[in-house]
Amino acid sequence: MSKHKVTKIGVLTSGGDSPGMNAAIRAVVRTGIYHGLEVFGIRRGYSGMIDNDIFLMDSKSVANIIQRGGTILKTARSDEFRTPEGRAIAYKNLKRLGIDGLVIIGGDGSFKGAQTFSNEYDIPCIGLPGTIDKDIAGSDVTIGFDTAVNTAVEAIDKIRDTMDAHDRLFIVEVMGRDAGYIALHSGIATGAENIIIPETKTDIEELIANLTEKEKRKKLVNLIVVAEGGQFGDANELAKIVKGRLPNADVRVCILGHIQRGGSPTCEDRLIASHMGYYAVESLLIGRHNVMVGVINNKIHYTPLNHAVKQKQTIGQEWMKIVKILAS
Ligand code: ATP
Repeated sequence: MSKHKVTKIGVLTSGGDSPGMNAAIRAVVRTGIYHGLEVFGIRRGYSGMIDNDIFLMDSKSVANIIQRGGTILKTARSDEFRTPEGRAIAYKNLKRLGIDGLVIIGGDGSFKGAQTFSNEYDIPCIGLPGTIDKDIAGSDVTIGFDTAVNTAVEAIDKIRDTMDAHDRLFIVEVMGRDAGYIALHSGIATGAENIIIPETKTDIEELIANLTEKEKRKKLVNLIVVAEGGQFGDANELAKIVKGRLPNADVRVCILGHIQRGGSPTCEDRLIASHMGYYAVESLLIGRHNVMVGVINNKIHYTPLNHAVKQKQTIGQEWMKIVKILAS
């Protein structure tokens, strides 16, 4: 715990956007004001800190945003902030306004930036995990994951209707970069026959044998949900392999893409964001500095920023077994 007492705090969103960031901003602003702090919004992540794009927020500035996707503060990536010179300018801008604490909503890269900055300038930083990928150490949940999964489920349900009408084999690629959680959850929830994720090696011969066996017993509707960044390249590459081995199959591909990042956050993401935003300010106030606020086993959990790194969470083999049994 640190004795550094905060009076004016800044809040920013950084890295990729995720649904629920607005709910987190709202929670930070309103909790800060409740405790008598001045709360400043910093636009476009660390870029706005360097460009002095910083403004005083009040309770009204976060009215009617809890249900909105994206981020009212905008987000960006800043190469300048990676340099000592860039961070020196950012510090001067904060100092001029008297900002003595920061809440950063973003991914592990944003936390690395925050850690470096607070080591250099004694500005306490609190991180909130805002990413649809659910791949950050120190939290079972991240702001935006639940919305992204639900968006994927809704889209795949629609694809299944047309798949079923035409007896097609569909390969649907979902986001997650090198994490398979969106694929696993959305695949299970839509009854996918096969789910391909980076965490588990897929035996292509086993996959082909499975599809061939289904073809033989006239089960022609097959859904394969694949995470981006998997072992076969993108979904089109996988489709080429499958078409080469099953010439009679009507194989189609759909890459869901950025729709998974947008849209109104689910109730779950709004709750997580509100909860984490509240505790971010509480942490600054009690001197629990330079941590990421996460949730583990449904309880708020604090992880030092330098440990809040990208982490592949383990996906139990049991889940993959269940997928096979339920799709047989
Ligand atoms: P996403 O998960 O969406 O990629 P992220 O927070 O990991 O989000 P990054 O682009 O990795 O996204 O990082 C966001 C910003 O954080 C960078 O543009 C840069 O300004 C800052 N940053 C990242 N790493 C460092 C670092 N080592 N030192 C200083 N700043 C950094």
